[in-house]
Amino acid sequence: MKIGIPLETRPGERRVASTPEVVKKLVDQGFAVVVERGAGVRAGYPDADYEAAGASLTDRAGAYDVDLLLRVRRPDETEVEAMRAGGLYIGLLESCGEDAILSRLLAKGMRVLALERMPRTSRAQAMDVLSSQSNIAGYRAVIEAAARYGRFLPMMMTSAGSAKPARVVVLGAGVAGLQAIATARRLGADVYAYDVRPETREQILSLGAKPIDLDLGESGAGEGGYARELSDEAKARQQAALADVLAKAHIIVTTALIPCRRAPVLVTEDVVRQMRPGSVIVDLAAASGGNCPLTVADAIVERHGVTLVGLTNFPALVPADASAFYARNLLNLIEIMFECGASGPKLKDLTADDITAAMLVQAVS
Ligand code: NAD
Repeated sequence: MKIGIPLETRPGERRVASTPEVVKKLVDQGFAVVVERGAGVRAGYPDADYEAAGASLTDRAGAYDVDLLLRVRRPDETEVEAMRAGGLYIGLLESCGEDAILSRLLAKGMRVLALERMPRTSRAQAMDVLSSQSNIAGYRAVIEAAARYGRFLPMMMTSAGSAKPARVVVLGAGVAGLQAIATARRLGADVYAYDVRPETREQILSLGAKPIDLDLGESGAGEGGYARELSDEAKARQQAALADVLAKAHIIVTTALIPCRRAPVLVTEDVVRQMRPGSVIVDLAAASGGNCPLTVADAIVERHGVTLVGLTNFPALVPADASAFYARNLLNLIEIMFECGASGPKLKDLTADDITAAMLVQAVS
């Protein structure tokens, strides 16, 4: 069973789907691993380390001509063409609904495991790349905000005077939001947080932040731990109720997402206009339309004196750890997919396990 690790080709992508540490474990379990030359270099993993771990280095064609292809980002058409017909594909498909790339993969007889379909169960946690990468995004978002904010985050008392702590508001207290709260607290900021799911209140408090309580007249808790979309009336109430606390914020980190929907608008232009000049908004929902309508995806812009950060790939800015977590998630997944006996790894029935069955894409839906 040959596994391929290609170089990720999306602009700005620095992660790699497997690391030398994980490659060694795969080789020990009887897999043959081929790595495209330079695949890990941008994440800090040189070719020589993969070779030392037991992988063979190859060109692009060699990395795609395998039984099991491991990717981080969605492939393009040329990459799909290079894949071995009937092979297995594991990666983020990054799609909802209509999908030409997925159709091509299926037309080649490939079995596709889409990582964003990982069920949210305790057993699946160790394989969940959405969680591991969101965690990194939440951390890196605060680092980005701190670097762009022209003042201190902690309170400072010096012989030249004192500085008040920054007031940070985190919107959306899921995986990324909770890590953003924890990071901003570690940097000494005064942190407030809000989520539409009521169960997050305790988590916000346990991280030393202050929960923002709003009465929207309806619950935002949806299925499988995700939020559901609010009614138009509740959305309007939410924007109005948040406006005051947001206008007083110096840094806002927004992470509010609803799977396969446009992100809800939580920070209006009016709020941005009222914020103190030099404030920073990091919008982690930029790729889904943004939690602020002034956010520009993949760009950093200034509006009404406020810096809006719309970068859409924060994990790629922490590429070594992001790749290490991603690779370990995939190793844990591979371990439930194969039986490793004396005759080498044997693929199990992917429909028989609730995790792989949920991830297996049979048709474009
Ligand atoms: P997500 O990335 O889909 O959304 C981010 C957050 O935005 C969520 O907390 C959501 O409630 C919030 N949000 C959506 N609309 C909002 C609005 N209008 N206003 C304010 N907030 C809004 O979510 P996520 O971070 O992936 O996780 C959500 C939950 O699922 C968490 O409780 C997490 O612990 C859980 N989870 C469980 C597993 C597992 O058990 N394997 C894996 C991942 C996540």
